[in-house]
Amino acid sequence: MSNKNYDELSFTTRAIHVGADPDPASGAIEPSIYMANSFQLPYDPSTMNWSASEANIYTRNGGVNQGMLERKVANLHGGEDCVVLASGVAALSGLFFTKLKKGDHVIFSTVTYVATYRIFNELWCDKWGIETSIVDCTDVEKIKAAIRPNTKLIHFETPGNPTCCICDIEAIVKLAHEHNIEVSVDNTFSSPYNTRPLEYGVDYVVESLTKYINGHGDSMGGAIIADHKTCEAIRYQAQVNIGGCISPFNAWLIQRGAATFPLRMQVHNDNALAVAEWLEKQPCVSFVAYPGLKSFKGHELAKKQMKNGFGGVLSFGLKGEHDLFNRVVTHLNIFTSAVSLGNTGSLIVFLGEDDERMYLYPEEFHGGFYRVAIGIEDKNDLINDLRQAFKAEGLETVD
Ligand SMILES: *Cc1c(COP(=O)(O)O)cnc(C)c1O
Repeated sequence: MSNKNYDELSFTTRAIHVGADPDPASGAIEPSIYMANSFQLPYDPSTMNWSASEANIYTRNGGVNQGMLERKVANLHGGEDCVVLASGVAALSGLFFTKLKKGDHVIFSTVTYVATYRIFNELWCDKWGIETSIVDCTDVEKIKAAIRPNTKLIHFETPGNPTCCICDIEAIVKLAHEHNIEVSVDNTFSSPYNTRPLEYGVDYVVESLTKYINGHGDSMGGAIIADHKTCEAIRYQAQVNIGGCISPFNAWLIQRGAATFPLRMQVHNDNALAVAEWLEKQPCVSFVAYPGLKSFKGHELAKKQMKNGFGGVLSFGLKGEHDLFNRVVTHLNIFTSAVSLGNTGSLIVFLGEDDERMYLYPEEFHGGFYRVAIGIEDKNDLINDLRQAFKAEGLETVD
């Protein structure tokens, strides 16, 4: 498109057009895939900085498709810059590797993606002498009590994976910045369609592009959205020199998926709310955790922070023993038993009572629970599928 003043355009329009200009060489109106791993050098390459990311040198320094996707994701988050890496976990570790050093202290939430827990609970501490505290970040007072003189970063997810707990972004940023501490938010569950944490003063946003922005369950990628200086440091340290670069094909797939992301996300939001409301009425269901439910602890805060809806992930329990959860899954026809989220199709995963992090979750989760990633199928088909699976096990349901 010729109008470059994207600021005046709506989110939906920007998701389609930013970073997807016609190719000046061929005139092709949709992005091509640039698989070349190297680029032609200037007449005298002898003075080049081989670790630079701004010039086209080598695809680990920065690829063409990666650059297009970075422009789009930065724009959707309202960020100055963005680094796209090979996966959401590459983005998390790229940010932490670049920002933290020996002796720093990190506060991170009790409810996070499992790799975040491993990084901060085991790997980073053992290898690099980073001090960490696991804190219930839904309670700002608990964060305050955990602050040390060397606290450098507070990291949390909202909604958190897998309990959907909601953290108060604005209040945490205020507390952190009063103490000269930076804040990073993993926004994967919410996506920029529902929440743009930079608007609340967050320093760094991380997102798994594998999920909603790609949206089709067929590629992996991750992004850090931040100021240009931080992004340059991440490119230099974590991308060029550690090597977590994204493949051009995956960057292209995610760019392609992103065009329909706002439309899909609205359906994820609507479907998940309908399924959560239905589940909550079922006598055989022990609890439902979904930020869109009025009964949910963080609902009022979620309404404030999540502008268009409450995301596509919910968790729930059944009144029954361990194997009942597995038997119910065998009767499902539409839901697939698989991890991940943000796919077009609905996914369900059973997390049993022996999961090593269960003690970090609220009590209702302790008997085991399902994490459900609602897709964009017809919502009545999804509800009917759950109903017939419950009935097949003789569980009590109501319409
Ligand atoms: C999936 C996920 C990640 C990791 O992303 P990958 O692309 O699988 O590496 C990080 N954070 C959250 C909240 C996730 O759901």
